[in-house]
Amino acid sequence: GLQAGIVGLPNVGKSTLFNALSNAKAVAANFPFCTIEPNIGVITVPDERLIALEKIVNPQRVVPATVEIVDIAGLVKGASKGEGLGNQFLGNIRATDAIIHVLRCFEDDNIIHVDGNVNPVRDKEIIDTELQLKDLEGIDKKISKNEKLSKTGDKEFLHGLDLLKQLKAFMEQGKNARGFEVSPEDKEKHFADLFLLTMKPVIYVCNVDEKSVVGGNNHSEAVKEAVKNEKAETLLISASIESEIAVMESFEDRQLFLEDMGLHESGVARLITSTYRLLNLATYFTAGVQEVRAWTITKGMLAPQAAGVIHTDFEKGFIRAEVIKYTDFIKYGSEAACRDNGKLAVQGKDYLVEDGDIMHFRFNV
Ligand code: GDP
Repeated sequence: GLQAGIVGLPNVGKSTLFNALSNAKAVAANFPFCTIEPNIGVITVPDERLIALEKIVNPQRVVPATVEIVDIAGLVKGASKGEGLGNQFLGNIRATDAIIHVLRCFEDDNIIHVDGNVNPVRDKEIIDTELQLKDLEGIDKKISKNEKLSKTGDKEFLHGLDLLKQLKAFMEQGKNARGFEVSPEDKEKHFADLFLLTMKPVIYVCNVDEKSVVGGNNHSEAVKEAVKNEKAETLLISASIESEIAVMESFEDRQLFLEDMGLHESGVARLITSTYRLLNLATYFTAGVQEVRAWTITKGMLAPQAAGVIHTDFEKGFIRAEVIKYTDFIKYGSEAACRDNGKLAVQGKDYLVEDGDIMHFRFNV
């Protein structure tokens, strides 16, 4: 499944946010390294279309799409050199599709800051530097390996080597790989095998005190300014508000509490929506009497790959897909009516699946 990793220095509020995000319980304690093992939680992606499909199909069950969230604790200065179990944590980040970078923007004298005072821009740079050093290690290895190979005359090979050197020079200025301008084709061909940590999409979460959750504070403003040239989003969230909301049973209570704080939507809900957008995800549906279900794909997936999200056998044995657009399904009210009105398209293996498609796969076993 698709996975986002929560990173940040110790004691910035990662576990608190993670707990609010998932049903899994990690210990939130005023102690660095309280979460040694990576904690994985699963988030349901809210989607109103599922409710509409349920009304029409009346299935036995409805299964929403999910995104996995991993709480990656223990990143500290020196992690890329193995400090504080650093390498293990960096490996955990490598496995994720996107990064949620939590920054401490709240003052609280009772909560120890590992570097003495609250300064989210410095904190961000500490984490970034570790990730960059790790990336540079990989880039250097590939450069020296390829230089030995030196396929003289192979234009594509030399182009790749040149790009690697450019990326290296770029990152040596303390920049993240995601800011490096490169075509999607080159990126896929020459960088994908490196699984660069700083190339992953990122959301910066400014963990602010309850009073600052609407307007922000000087810390969150400093973060915004520092990241304005990065391809990244920033969100204002108060992890402590989120943890209070997370334990409220009734929707009305939650809504009242949020409105008291001047909010319309919980930070968790905003974070899920942003993560979904950040990961460049789309949803297709299967709609049978047994099950109406949302499936998560990456934008740009072709029909066989999308089928593979359900089962690898669906991808291997793919024959064709019958596709109904969501709006047609709602308009005509059933698969049969869509078929009768020419709204059921038979698509082959080159079909680019679109958000909202209702798919029925035909495959060989
Ligand atoms: P982690 O090490 O980044 O996972 O941080 P934790 O989530 O364990 O939080 C460390 C400490 O900071 C805990 O005692 C939390 O209760 C506290 N904390 C987390 N978020 C906030 C917040 O928004 N405001 C305040 N005042 N304390 C918080």
